[in-house]
Amino acid sequence: MTGVQTCALRSIPAETLKQIIAETLCFDFPTVKVEKDIYALELYHGPTMAFKDVGARFMSRCLAYFNKDQKDSKNTVLVATSGDTGGAVASGFLGVQGVEVIILYPSGKVSDIQERQLTTLGQNIKALEVDGFFDDCQDMVKKAFLDESLKHKKLTSANSINIARWLPQMFYFFFAYKQLKSQNKPLVFSCPSGNFGNICAGIIAKKLGLPIEHFVASTNVNDTVPRFLEKGNYDPKPSKATISNAMDVGNPSNFIRIQEMYNNDLEQFKKDFSSFSYTDAETLEAMQSIYKTDGYIAEPHGAVGYLGLKKELKNHANAIGIFLETAHPIKFLDVVEPALNIKLPIPTQIESVLDKEKISVKIKTYEELKAFLG
Ligand SMILES: *Cc1c(COP(=O)(O)O)cnc(C)c1O
Repeated sequence: MTGVQTCALRSIPAETLKQIIAETLCFDFPTVKVEKDIYALELYHGPTMAFKDVGARFMSRCLAYFNKDQKDSKNTVLVATSGDTGGAVASGFLGVQGVEVIILYPSGKVSDIQERQLTTLGQNIKALEVDGFFDDCQDMVKKAFLDESLKHKKLTSANSINIARWLPQMFYFFFAYKQLKSQNKPLVFSCPSGNFGNICAGIIAKKLGLPIEHFVASTNVNDTVPRFLEKGNYDPKPSKATISNAMDVGNPSNFIRIQEMYNNDLEQFKKDFSSFSYTDAETLEAMQSIYKTDGYIAEPHGAVGYLGLKKELKNHANAIGIFLETAHPIKFLDVVEPALNIKLPIPTQIESVLDKEKISVKIKTYEELKAFLG
């Protein structure tokens, strides 16, 4: 993408990097036993209770480091969100020097909690409420990146097309290994996948030497990758709406990177990697059975991960399976509460935004976005 700023050729001194990582990983990543040899790796104990907190915190601090000597100029982070990314980016970048964040979200199409997480923080975080759908937000952002007349704004993306968003997610896999290695069994990881950033980070961890036996990319009915593995041709389709909506992606932007890491050799790739897709009905059924049998509350994304894991474990008799729980159930309470017939207590991280005042600017057209950027 032209016009997108990169920091690729500059390095961060080791001491600074350690500090950035300490600030990024300021919460726990527990593996919770769900069944015999099946664990949930809970990635949602951060400030906005989405696993995207790690990527947003890491990227914001790297950007602040690269900006520190440019006292009068700012970077502008432009991000389109269908829900969880916006809140994590807003919280991760709050108060970071030299960076202004502009979040575009579709009016009336994100949950109340998600909307509050991205509209109530103030300071360097601005929310634009777009009269349209997520795709309209995304189109406006893409257009802005290509707009020569906005070059002076130093725009950068905080979606997972930016590898700074998912590189630090490699830690998740190391943390799980550390917690489970004493059992001396091979590890199979299942990632509920949308844009395939998370699983890309896992594959890099394996390439760095972490002993991971196999990966499963579990998807909802947006099944471009499972179809590719089965049929051998890559045929992206427009996205379909599901209850695991953070994975409603028709053409995952990181999948090409994964194929490159396997030299585009499909047979080699399949030795390490499987991918399966599940309907909403199957997802709800899994949530109910996990709750009934194991007493564990999984939200829809985690439940998709669990289903893919169960299927793959049939080929790994002696392994431990780990599915990534990518969001706290409260983030998807509209699905979780009626499905399990329970009422979820509101965690303190969420409670603190519920009574804050929403501040957003309504826009409809690209011209209005441009005028706002100035
Ligand atoms: C973003 C997101 C995903 C998908 O992650 P990718 O790295 O895009 O594959 C899964 N679950 C939740 C809750 C998310 O917010």
